[in-house]
Amino acid sequence: MKKIGGLQLSRKVNEKVANLKPSGIRRFFDLIIGREDVISLGVGEPDFPVPWKIREEMIYSLEKGITSYTSNQGLPELRNAIAEYYEKFGFKPDPDRIIVTTGVSEGIDIALRAIINPGDKVIIPEPCYVSYEPLSILAGAEVVKIPTTPDFKPRYEDLVKVGKAKAIIINYPNNPTGVSYSQKDLEEIADAAIELDAIIISDEIYSELSYTFKHTSIASLNGMEDRVVVLNGFSKSFAMTGLRIGYAIAPDEIFEAMLKIHQYCMLCAPVTAQIGAIEALRNGESDLERMRAEYLRRRNYFVRRLREVFEVRMPDGAFYVFPKINANSEEFAERLLFEKNVAVVPGNAFGECGEGYIRCAYAVSMEKLKEAADRIVDFAKRIG
Ligand code: PLP
Repeated sequence: MKKIGGLQLSRKVNEKVANLKPSGIRRFFDLIIGREDVISLGVGEPDFPVPWKIREEMIYSLEKGITSYTSNQGLPELRNAIAEYYEKFGFKPDPDRIIVTTGVSEGIDIALRAIINPGDKVIIPEPCYVSYEPLSILAGAEVVKIPTTPDFKPRYEDLVKVGKAKAIIINYPNNPTGVSYSQKDLEEIADAAIELDAIIISDEIYSELSYTFKHTSIASLNGMEDRVVVLNGFSKSFAMTGLRIGYAIAPDEIFEAMLKIHQYCMLCAPVTAQIGAIEALRNGESDLERMRAEYLRRRNYFVRRLREVFEVRMPDGAFYVFPKINANSEEFAERLLFEKNVAVVPGNAFGECGEGYIRCAYAVSMEKLKEAADRIVDFAKRIG
């Protein structure tokens, strides 16, 4: 064990942090750094620039010298715009129950820290986004994972089996599977949450990228507004990943608790991004439609090609395909990278039940996607 000034290093670091596994996605990113020859379907990041109108508003605001802190909760104009915008997902939240966050990432963190007491159970249906488990553990929770293969939907019976839980984290359209939840699916989850007396943390970051049916927020279901924390943001819908902007809509007490944490650890979300976000919600619809149409075209093409060699469920949304590869996912991803210069993420990075799958993000140009599809199909045929 390493020693610094006579103190054992392990004692210097919080035990929970020291025991966290490194992200399975990160490992694959590291392998492709600086490799121009690789087509990366690994990154869950839009390949579009931030729409020009949004950039323009942010540039003007900088020219005007608007660079100070905003109120902790976020600009009232932005919170009002979010409240009106959310109506399209089924309910109009009170702007006073909205916190503008530094991305959905912060929203997940403060929602968990606001509600978890040590040892409380948090249910995480898997495969799922990589931060849910580590952030739950850091908040002091006991994580209960529920595998959702093969249809990737959490079922009432599986959820209520847990007996007692403080929270259920859901994400739809889903990263990594692309699956979204219908009204009936949402009702099952809502009924289970009531049965367990659990709070639902609903990560709706891909709500705008829904292709099969219109996105409905679970908070809009009868009787659910008081037990749902809705998280959403601008990273995926408006291609604003690096601007770090999102928001949380939370019921009374949970809202107060989240705001307390946010005010101490973040003060406020970046002001320039908040100004960009106002423009996005006011005038961004045509940009949204343009990007959504392009993702849809890519999805249809890519799924058709992958079906030549794999079993592929048609994704309902987001920009991911999660084919079943019938091989060890890490070995497959590594060989694909070294032999064919295509980067994908092994499915087990999103939970054990993701083993045997890979995640491919189609957030690359059609030209690159075609080339990647040729290489993947060729590789899969060769290894049989
Ligand atoms: N939630 C999900 C499901 C995601 O896929 C991501 C990013 O990939 C995030 C949250 C993080 O979003 P943000 O950039 O708003 O922090």
